[in-house]
Amino acid sequence: MGGSKDPAAHSPANLLRVCGDGIRGCHGMIESNRTASYGNGRLVRQGDSSTDVPVLLRNRWTGLTEFGQYVCPETGNIIQSAGSTDYTEVPW
Ligand SMILES: [Zn+2]
Repeated sequence: MGGSKDPAAHSPANLLRVCGDGIRGCHGMIESNRTASYGNGRLVRQGDSSTDVPVLLRNRWTGLTEFGQYVCPETGNIIQSAGSTDYTEVPW
């Protein structure tokens, strides 16, 4: 999210597909609740490695990899493989 010129910002580990825009939908919810969004991993501060910051998805803490996988943040086991269409939009 956002307009960073840092190429790492566009790594799959830094991206969540959500509906809406900065005002509406899930994107709007994230932007209008930034403190909570940092707390649940839906926002990551510049300089932090998003592969080290789990995100709350479907009430489960989930790690994101640079390969677009969703993994257990404790074991690293793959929950969702890259390219799967199960998560067409982030399921809160
Ligand atoms: Zn949505």
